[in-house]
Amino acid sequence: MSEERDEDDCADEELILARWGSEDALLDHLMRVVGELCPAICGETAEVPVVEVRPSSLSRGHFGEHHAAAEYEPAAREWPSRIILFPSVVFDKATVRTAIAHELVHHWESLGAHGAESLRLPSDTEAVLSQRFGQPDRIRRWRSGHSDRFIAKAAIVSAQLGLPFGQILNYRPGAAR
Ligand SMILES: [Zn+2]
Repeated sequence: MSEERDEDDCADEELILARWGSEDALLDHLMRVVGELCPAICGETAEVPVVEVRPSSLSRGHFGEHHAAAEYEPAAREWPSRIILFPSVVFDKATVRTAIAHELVHHWESLGAHGAESLRLPSDTEAVLSQRFGQPDRIRRWRSGHSDRFIAKAAIVSAQLGLPFGQILNYRPGAAR
């Protein structure tokens, strides 16, 4: 994928070095956060996903549109489950923690959504979504990848970890407040 590197990727490297000292220090931090939050969100026996940082250029589509700040890939065949963070979310620890919590809710769903039957959609869901996403078409698009049980689990995780509910749903820097 090296042909996809661009100027932004060099800027990513510089910012990672400035913020974390080294890429290894960043990865150590990410693994610590995933190792701490995975049992809390997905249960003590859940497999802990691999976490990696990919260059900004890989978070965009062919027309340069912005795709993702983080992604979750479920385990498939010999591949372990994976949380991928793009540089736009690794520059402050609070955003890292919130983004990882969000992706671990996807992990929880992919492992069978244990305990989902007792979850309820919070009554303020619509208000929080419109506050965090703004336009109805953005909410509809987001909803196509995030089920009611995802949202209900995010509310529990929010209470459990003391992270704002709206930010777990949409942790992107620059999201509507
Ligand atoms: Zn998501």
